[in-house]
Amino acid sequence: MTRSDFALVGGGIIGACLAEELAATGAAVSVLDAGPTPGHATSRAAGPAAPALRHVADHVFYGWLQQAAASLREDVDRLEPVHGRFSAPQPILHVLRAEEADRVAPHLPATASSAHWISSTQAAELATGFRLPDDRRYLLEQTALAVDGARYLSAVQARCARLDVVWRQDTTVQDVLVTDDGVELATTGGPVHTDIAIITAGAWSGTAELTGAPVHVRPARRQLVTLAAESVPPLILSSTRHLVPGVAGDVIIGTDEDDIAAQAPGFDDRCDVAGITELLHFAATALPALARAAPADLRCGLCPVPASGRPLIGRVPGHQRLWLATGHAGHGLLTARHTARGLTTALTKGQWDTVPRMMCPTRALEG
Ligand SMILES: Cc1cc2nc3c(=O)[nH]c(=O)nc-3n(C[C@H](O)[C@H](O)[C@H](O)COP(=O)(O)OP(=O)(O)OC[C@H]3O[C@@H](n4cnc5c(N)ncnc54)[C@H](O)[C@@H]3O)c2cc1C
Repeated sequence: MTRSDFALVGGGIIGACLAEELAATGAAVSVLDAGPTPGHATSRAAGPAAPALRHVADHVFYGWLQQAAASLREDVDRLEPVHGRFSAPQPILHVLRAEEADRVAPHLPATASSAHWISSTQAAELATGFRLPDDRRYLLEQTALAVDGARYLSAVQARCARLDVVWRQDTTVQDVLVTDDGVELATTGGPVHTDIAIITAGAWSGTAELTGAPVHVRPARRQLVTLAAESVPPLILSSTRHLVPGVAGDVIIGTDEDDIAAQAPGFDDRCDVAGITELLHFAATALPALARAAPADLRCGLCPVPASGRPLIGRVPGHQRLWLATGHAGHGLLTARHTARGLTTALTKGQWDTVPRMMCPTRALEG
């Protein structure tokens, strides 16, 4: 039977960053991942890793997202020179209806100092080729990043290998038994014994066999299209959909997080015609030159969406040895490193300074 200090159930970007942080403290860490290759949502994800403006009025959460953006930038500086490019720095142009702009504006000075309002004429000069309506308001942030999930995960996994993390694919955790001595995980590859188990299983984190406690995380589909375009746009355009110059020189058309809530629940991760058509229509309307671009890839992944609206980071209610890091919905690429650092400090030093109390699973359960 294998023994580790920490066993992580799920090897997406959350499990990978956490494995790296824990292993860097000298702990023996295992990652058990059900799939043939690492990550589910992570391996399909690409898009803007920037705090979403719809959270701007929630100062604690938006502040945490901004700290996460700084942690991600540190990852870019540290990992890309060694493991290859997974991000592209881009300005982001938010296109807002007047009522949304009025809601967002009062919160900006305190929370997003790099953002400033520009006129529709200035927006048109920056976003050449785009069709921009005059009746919208435009907010420009200079310092956003576009991130490719599969490439980011591959870089973090390479760091894990250097730190002797034991990483097992095709290993599904079927049952979790917490004892006085530790945690026994029944897996398709045999039993694994660990002092502490951490559920980082993305959209599957709420399944009863993993926690035995009600963890309210549901799968929500998110789709994207990549286009092989002759020229890539000079910035990220963000409204209810987004149009992003991709890391691989392609153009990514994706949805905003609000849209996934309306989609069918369950673990069906196939693209559908309605979703893809909407994305293509958006692309050709926002940037007419894209009407002639060739669709290169269609992707759909299941994101872990928590009922509380915030990630769940902390102990599974009622268990000392069973922990959670999940519920990152549409901002897991943005927040994985910050989550991993915060939880590692909590697990190894008992300090919770960088994980807001609103993310504590017990509090989330109590509403
Ligand atoms: C199309 C798309 C676009 C996105 N765009 C962005 C973006 O622009 N910016 C951003 O910040 N975020 C984006 N996201 C969201 C981001 O990808 C997710 O928040 C993040 O990848 C979640 O990571 P995770 O590690 O929790 O889950 P996953 O990557 O899904 O990993 C979970 C892993 O757990 C494993 N697992 C499940 N059950 C078990 C079990 N019983 N035993 C063992 N292993 C198990 C699975 O095999 C999987 O590998 C996007 C997501 C999608 C799908």
